[in-house]
Amino acid sequence: MDERLYAMWVQINRTCFDGQLEPLSAIGFEELSGPNGIGAHGKYVLQSKCIMIDKLFEFSEDDRLAGDDEALAKAEIACRLMVHEMIHQALYQHKKPNPGGHGNSFFDEAQRIANLTGDDAPTLETANRWPIHSHFMDAMGRIILNARSANESDDSSEKD
Ligand SMILES: [Zn+2]
Repeated sequence: MDERLYAMWVQINRTCFDGQLEPLSAIGFEELSGPNGIGAHGKYVLQSKCIMIDKLFEFSEDDRLAGDDEALAKAEIACRLMVHEMIHQALYQHKKPNPGGHGNSFFDEAQRIANLTGDDAPTLETANRWPIHSHFMDAMGRIILNARSANESDDSSEKD
């Protein structure tokens, strides 16, 4: 169990799901995107009761607490991916239709949470990514890229 992600899960369960979601067996970071990945940034697995978040967004808790831009951006994305996967968890738990998909039952749940949190509401077209909004992702992507290029320019080794 990753403590950073578990803390997010507990808080989201309390604030968005009335504490109703059943405890999971595992919550952690895993390589989900990239050549060996599944083409997604998060997954909920019913059989093994786990939620995995893309390792791409793994952040240092010390850096996050220190207010580091890159760590804050990654933590925010990880948190939003967690909300998305927890909607799937809720749909399975409550035996809603198409629990692993992004049809009406997912949309209704996303809408309910958007109303609670004040986040942008989903549309049927964007529900598969909600609450990762494109304008938000662009801003976060820039922060992460800037942090990377700053790190790279610190590195004096030759690159080809
Ligand atoms: Zn989904």
